[in-house]
Amino acid sequence: MRTFAVILAGGIGLRMESEIPKQFIPLAGKPVIMHTISNFRKFDSKLEIIVVLPEEHVDLWKELCNEFRFEIEHTIIRGGKERFHSVKNALDIIPDNCLVMIHDGVRPLVSHRSIDRVRQKAIEKGNAIPFVDINESIRKVGKDKSKAVKREQFKIIQTPQAFISQDIKLAYQQKYKKSFTDDASVYEGLGNKVELVLGNNKNIKITRPIDLIIAERLLQEM
Ligand code: C5P
Repeated sequence: MRTFAVILAGGIGLRMESEIPKQFIPLAGKPVIMHTISNFRKFDSKLEIIVVLPEEHVDLWKELCNEFRFEIEHTIIRGGKERFHSVKNALDIIPDNCLVMIHDGVRPLVSHRSIDRVRQKAIEKGNAIPFVDINESIRKVGKDKSKAVKREQFKIIQTPQAFISQDIKLAYQQKYKKSFTDDASVYEGLGNKVELVLGNNKNIKITRPIDLIIAERLLQEM
């Protein structure tokens, strides 16, 4: 089956306190998303890679590709207002009957085992998303009180999230809601059942400055 990897880097990452969006910040000497794209290319040389970038940073990306002699083939798509709109723009160019793996560009450390589990399950069941357990205690917080909840009942959800192209394209026809924080929530919005597979703990989402320090260390072990 033709398989697409949509690498999302269309956000401007306000939590990173940096001039340039987090996906372009250097990690071990090169921009974060170059690590992510290379990781997927190493996983499967036949993957068709789509990279979603903020409209205003497409030229910067092209300059970075020249500077770093980055030659992995990819199609560039312009991002939208929210993650939702960025994904939708990428899905627009993907034909029916393909597998689509949608991945946060700021997660360079996803393991090949995780990607493979997601891909296999999605081929078998039509979709799959990776999870990891929560190690901390968690509480449900109300207006003026809070209550401990059973952490076994909750999981942290990562990417890549995989779907059959026409199913996820149909789901993305829904009107945008704030609760659509990932692709599974959009897919579920049509009443579809989401399939969980084990992810990997190192697959952190680089969001705050401290995450870069952690990612740099973890990259040395890959
Ligand atoms: O903002 P957040 O950390 O949830 O973003 C997750 C991923 O979605 C990031 O890789 C980011 O670049 C991407 N994104 C996007 N378009 C947006 C907002 C976020 O592609 N408008």
